[in-house]
Amino acid sequence: MNFNKYSRQISLPFVGVFGQEKIKNTKVVVIGAGALGHSTSIYLAASGVGDITIFDQDIVEESNLSRQICFTEQDIGKPKAECLTRHLKELYSDINFRFFNRKFSVEESNLLPYNCNIMINASDNYKARRAINQVSLQKNIPWIDIGIFKTQGHFCLFKPGLGCYECIFPDVFDSTENCSLSGVLSPICGIIGSFAANEVVKFILEKYSKVVNHFFSFEFLGNDFKKFYWKKNMDCPSCNRFLNLNELNK
Ligand SMILES: [Zn+2]
Repeated sequence: MNFNKYSRQISLPFVGVFGQEKIKNTKVVVIGAGALGHSTSIYLAASGVGDITIFDQDIVEESNLSRQICFTEQDIGKPKAECLTRHLKELYSDINFRFFNRKFSVEESNLLPYNCNIMINASDNYKARRAINQVSLQKNIPWIDIGIFKTQGHFCLFKPGLGCYECIFPDVFDSTENCSLSGVLSPICGIIGSFAANEVVKFILEKYSKVVNHFFSFEFLGNDFKKFYWKKNMDCPSCNRFLNLNELNK
């Protein structure tokens, strides 16, 4: 490991060389190579997360360039996951990247790296959230949900056994409203993605106790930030289904 490169982080007493090694040995999957996927994966790589996998089925468009900060005009018309990975590789040659130019689904979960530590939803759709939630419970992988909308953002960490996405949102289906239709302030994409990357690093260092079972809501026009406590729904069909399956497989 290049100690000099990560020296400012290693200097922190709760990181040190041991913590930086843990960060390096972590495998993170980022679902979505849009605005949130950019800011999240840039700071994951900059922090020294050693293995990053990116999923996205979309193609770069001109209207993406104001938020998806790694893309250049030459990337227009090319696959997002591939372009983002290429730019990240140029910036962080010591990190192991892989990409899939396809939508993430339960069926695609066999493409996850062996011993994946955490997944991040950086997409803007509920189908992906539900798929990630199911894979999380099935394979016992924690995940983070982030989202942005107009001048708002949110963050939530889900750890199997302590509740899941469907414990909070049992009946959420794809909304017709998202950033492409309703707009978003560009810097918010950077703030929420960076927040998620910071929480991943804290998760790796086991400094996440104040985040679990809390839903964070940010409103940036009036700078109104809220944190809501939520608890596992003991009748949640998803939690119970996979908890029972995991018990049977023991
Ligand atoms: Zn649940």
